[in-house]
Amino acid sequence: MAPKIEPQPGIMDIALYQGGQSALPGQGDVLKLSSNENHYGFSDKAREAFQKSARTLNRYPGTDHGALRTAIGEIHGIDPDRVICGVGSDEVLQFVAQAYAGPGTEVIHTQHGFAMYPILARAVGATPVAVPEVDRTVDVDAILRACTAKTRIVFLTNPGNPTGTMLPEEEVARLAEGLPPRAILVIDSAYVEFAEGRDGGIALVEARENVVMTRTFSKLYGLGGLRIGWGYGPQTIIDVLNRIRQPFNLSDTQLVTAEAALRDRDFAERCVHENAKWRAWMAGRLNEIGVDCDPSFTNFVLARFENEDEALACDAHLKSQRIIVRHVANYGLPHCLRITVGDESACRRVVHAIAQFKGARVKEAVE
Ligand SMILES: *Cc1c(COP(=O)(O)O)cnc(C)c1O
Repeated sequence: MAPKIEPQPGIMDIALYQGGQSALPGQGDVLKLSSNENHYGFSDKAREAFQKSARTLNRYPGTDHGALRTAIGEIHGIDPDRVICGVGSDEVLQFVAQAYAGPGTEVIHTQHGFAMYPILARAVGATPVAVPEVDRTVDVDAILRACTAKTRIVFLTNPGNPTGTMLPEEEVARLAEGLPPRAILVIDSAYVEFAEGRDGGIALVEARENVVMTRTFSKLYGLGGLRIGWGYGPQTIIDVLNRIRQPFNLSDTQLVTAEAALRDRDFAERCVHENAKWRAWMAGRLNEIGVDCDPSFTNFVLARFENEDEALACDAHLKSQRIIVRHVANYGLPHCLRITVGDESACRRVVHAIAQFKGARVKEAVE
């Protein structure tokens, strides 16, 4: 018989993930504000650990990530036995999908949620279900209404990407409480370090049996290129996820660099502080020149234009000024540009370019 090679159902429905543009043809000196990377780079201590790890590349890494999990436990005041580390938080999200969803089940994400969620659902043959948001904010009641007996996972990005908005703790707790018995709430807290005073879901994980939180070294810690993330959940769920984790999923280089980055609190705190200052400045100036944005709890702001044409025209103007931001039409926000908060000079440069586009003047004062 002639072979008939076919992938599993769902896989051909996946549209390839689109990353932020990082270069403009034929132009150097580009300001990249399209991928929410850390504008200050990363910790010098992380750099030292990375370089030192080059001496032992012939050795396999440990399989239990013990030192990194211990550091995570210390810094966050949580139980390291209930932490799992992955190749970016993306891999931890993938473990959850693989272990708990499959053909005949449903995976809920929200209208403007992270593009990876429907990809992960389809990859395991599950059906992704998109739930509308209200004014770019997650609607807990709408999610609860969308739940069925087939629901296995609800992915919540909090704070949201690309919206930058954030649900209060009581709302997240109400969501967890209202889920059907077989559903897990996955709180993707990739940006929560920028929302000062919030725990990303730690208390909720500890109070319940159906909540998993994911975190990343890609945003605040500036290690997106190295790919390290982690999850925190009930022991039963973490034990399940560890069964499908490849034993050597993280290299020693990844593990020691992440640990050094996490322990350098000075660098992290400085980045949080600068981000808050320039995020407020940028949002304030944009509002003054007639570009609306919601208060952001992240390291980016979502700039709203009159319509898609104006957003595209502004995007083109920014590109002509060698500035790359993210048009987020594929997140259901065609009239919006997502702009990473950079350092002072980056923020000034992008705001001035948008003001130029709007024909408006920017007030110089920093609040
Ligand atoms: C950037 C981001 C992540 C982090 O992904 P990594 O795989 O850890 O780099 C996760 N979720 C959201 C919503 C993000 O924007």
